[in-house]
Amino acid sequence: MSLPEPVTTMASPFRMDYTYVAGVGRSVFLRGLAERRLLARRCPGCAQVYLPPPEFCSRCLSELEAPFELDGLGAVSTFCVVNFPFPGQTIEPPYVVAYIQVHGAGTRLMHLVREVEPERVRIGMAVEPVWAPDDQLTTSLKSIQHFRPVRGADA
Ligand SMILES: [Zn+2]
Repeated sequence: MSLPEPVTTMASPFRMDYTYVAGVGRSVFLRGLAERRLLARRCPGCAQVYLPPPEFCSRCLSELEAPFELDGLGAVSTFCVVNFPFPGQTIEPPYVVAYIQVHGAGTRLMHLVREVEPERVRIGMAVEPVWAPDDQLTTSLKSIQHFRPVRGADA
């Protein structure tokens, strides 16, 4: 007779409500998403362009300039293919999560890359945002359903 295996994990239902305070800078960005607009801001001190933009530059603490719109075209900066299911997952694997370098921005956005086989995704691949339909636009990154390869572009 063998000893029982030690308990190493235990499933337990858990729920936590919380309030995220976006602040002035990110609020502008989030309201823009509900209008299919990607709003960036430039730092007058060091020229860094933030997307999403805070209110102040995290490098030199200058107040950022007025928001301006980017078209959302960009390139895959780095990515991973999610192959394993996990609790709470809303998308069936395999799928691709990537850092997107939106043209004109100095920072990167994390988002899904779809409408392409995961094994065909490459660093440098040109991508564009796929916006949600009107009735699903919100003040969150869910207003962009995912990014997809730009048709006709070859990375
Ligand atoms: Zn700066």
